Amino acid sequence: MEIHFLGTTGYHPNRRRDTACFMIPEHGIVLDAGTGIFRARELLQTPELHIFLSHTHLDHVVGLTFLLDVMHQTQLERVWVYCDPTKQAAITEHLFNKNLFPVAPPFKFRPLDGRPVSVPGGGTLTTFPLQHPGGCLGFRFDWPQHSLAYVTDTTAEPNANYIKSISNVDALIHECYFPDGCEDQARLTGHSCLTPVAHVAARAQAKRTFLVHLSPLDESDALLDLSSVEAIYPGMHVPVDGEMTNI
Ligand SMILES: [Zn+2]
Ligand SMILES: [Zn+2]
Repeated sequence: MEIHFLGTTGYHPNRRRDTACFMIPEHGIVLDAGTGIFRARELLQTPELHIFLSHTHLDHVVGLTFLLDVMHQTQLERVWVYCDPTKQAAITEHLFNKNLFPVAPPFKFRPLDGRPVSVPGGGTLTTFPLQHPGGCLGFRFDWPQHSLAYVTDTTAEPNANYIKSISNVDALIHECYFPDGCEDQARLTGHSCLTPVAHVAARAQAKRTFLVHLSPLDESDALLDLSSVEAIYPGMHVPVDGEMTNI
């Protein structure tokens, strides 16, 4: 199963990274709809797209307004957007306010209300709450052969509640907005520093871990010093946009 990294930064795009978006083309699954979603068009393999929103901060939803182009001259017939029902109005009344975007959204909503959701490929999605201003949902997908967890926009702690929800996943996509040394800022903004993320990955016994939602201010690969956490959890990877991995 291929996971494509379409947007690996947070807040705003920079020259190497768009904001949060990940895709599993064979199942038509997209995680978050940041600016990176424009890259989904060339990867489409299915007549339906299922977009799962962790929360509705702009860097995770602004790409919903790009969907007309994502669908343009493709076989894509239907788009479903799954989100916390209490946040749906933020999208319909604000993002798609006629003064901001004059065309009706080309998708229908499905609720993420805490109950497990069946997903394409014979899989199940379970959600769990994350600490973040305004709240955020973590995702765990289990298919017969694969498992994947997506944890973005939260402050990682070695004893975080969500660790039990992501145990033994084949792949963990976890946010890491800050390098070590920014712990106060991380707590204030609801984001993570490197060492606590390494502890989370180690305690969850994730087989592989990909760090995303990096601060867009530093475009280099030097933002996170992975060698400093090698002893806690070896082999973390920081993908750039356009990268793909197989699980
Ligand atoms: Zn974000
Ligand atoms: Zn956020």
